[in-house]
Order: sequence, then structure tokens, then C-alpha cells
Amino acid sequence: MPDLSGKHGLVVGVANKRSIAWAIAQALARSGARLALTYPSARLEENVRELAATLDNPLVLPCDVANDQQIVELGATIDKEFGGLDFFVHGAAFARPEELAAPFSQTSREGFRIALDVSAYSFIALSREVRPLMQKRGGGSILTLTYLGSERVFKNYNVMGVAKAALESAVRYLAAELGPENIRVNAISAGPIKTLAAMGITGFSSILGVYRERAPLARNIDTSEVADAALFLLGPAGRAVTAEILMVDGGFHAMGF
Ligand code: NAD
Repeated sequence: MPDLSGKHGLVVGVANKRSIAWAIAQALARSGARLALTYPSARLEENVRELAATLDNPLVLPCDVANDQQIVELGATIDKEFGGLDFFVHGAAFARPEELAAPFSQTSREGFRIALDVSAYSFIALSREVRPLMQKRGGGSILTLTYLGSERVFKNYNVMGVAKAALESAVRYLAAELGPENIRVNAISAGPIKTLAAMGITGFSSILGVYRERAPLARNIDTSEVADAALFLLGPAGRAVTAEILMVDGGFHAMGF
């Protein structure tokens, strides 16, 4: 485990104890980092505060990632409290359930806008905001979470697949721009895990079964395994890695049928 004491991180995307972002937050905190966690709405605030209370001296701040003003305020508060930032973990994604359930060609203009805005554009907006905070530390590491539905067709993933393709492309463009400032930008492409977001995908349990059957490791993965890979990418061991989409899926992506 890396020693991240004295470092500060922002983790966006904790909804409950099953969230991938929560596993990453716990791993960062165990390594000694001090964290800011966010909640998107009053409805989720209490959940996030309860989880955050188990960490050492966290900041808990509002941030609906579709709201530019909240993103700017988040950056300002973190700057004031932490005086800079070393890590940013982006685990926010959303598509309207009806867009996921309907045939892909039925994707509405508004449904497309919302999915791409929350799940891909927010990564650009938040990265822009944390950039000057990372410059103060002489560099930093940014990480987002994606899924293989960006390049392959998965039933009922639909517009979220398009959003993940945009997100992965944004990883490369941001990595190219921020690299000279020693800010690294990567993504983990995780295998399917039963979380709140995943439950919005019809037939999700059968996807879990297909992975168990076909992945080289012949099992599903869990959030702690994503968190371990995240520590590698965020911490000093990943210092030469940027613009990378790291597959943490038991090897499923390599298989034909
Ligand atoms: P989750 O439901 O726990 O996390 C999704 C998060 O997005 C929630 O915390 C939710 O509050 C947040 N969010 C949605 N709209 C928001 C908004 N407007 N502002 C701020 N936050 C908002 O589910 P998860 O599976 O942990 O998802 C985390 C990330 O991992 C997502 O990007 C997801 O696509 C990705 N992912 C998940 C899986 C999986 O199978 N669970 C696999 C690969 C990638």
C-alpha cells in the first residue's frame, strides 16, 4: 500500500457503501490521504455524511456535476481547505432509465444530452477546476471509471455506451494537455459490479453470469479490486502511466466467444 500521508484527494460519485468510488475513497484514506467527498442532492447527503464519518477528518461538499456554479464553488472550497489537490476520482454517471430500456435508435435528444453531460462532460469540467489546485502541488493524478460498453455492444447499455466512448476520448485529450504539468489522467474500465447505477440496467444479473462463464479468471470482480488498481494509478507506482484505460474485468475484454 502506498504512503499517501500529507496528500489530498477529491472523490466524486459516492452514493452508498456499494459505490465503486466509496471503495476507492476507503483505500485512499487507509493509505493516509485526506479526502473531500461530494453529494449531488439533498436526498443523498445523509448517506454520504454517514460514510464520510468513518474517515479521518473529511470534507463533505455539495456537487451536482451538471451544475457549473457548484463545480466552481467546490474547487474554491477545496483550495481554501486543502491549499491544493493531489488526486481527483470521478465516479459520476447517469442516464435516464427509459433511454437504457428503449431500443438505441429511440434515444431522445434530451436523454442523450443528459447522459453525455453527467457522465462525460462533467469529467472535463471538474478536471479544469482541479487543474490549478494540482499545479500548486507540482502535479497530480486524475481517474475516471468506464465500461467496455464504450467499444462493444451490450444490451440495454445504449446511450451510456456512447457516453463512455466520449469519456474515454476525454481521458486521452486531457492527458495530452495536462501531461506537461505532471498531471496524469487515466480510467479504469471495470467489470460489472452490483451497484446502484448497475441496477438501472435491465438484465444486469445475466451480464454477471456471462462474465463468470467467459472471463479468464472465471469470476466476477468486486469494488475492492477496482480500488487496488485505482491506488496504483493514483499513487507513485503509476507515475509513468497516463492516457490509459486499464481493464479491471478478470480479463473478459480479451475473449472472443
Ligand atoms: P453508483 O450508483 O454507486 O455511482 C454512481 C454515482 O454517480 C452516484 O454516486 C451518483 O450520486 C452519481 N451521480 C449521478 N448523477 C450525478 C450528478 N448529477 N452529480 C453528481 N453525481 C452524480 O454506481 P457505480 O457502479 O459505483 O458507478 C460509478 C462509476 O463506475 C460510473 O461511472 C459507472 O458507469 C462506472 N462503472 C460501473 C460498473 C458497474 O458494473 N457497477 C462497471 C464499470 C464502470
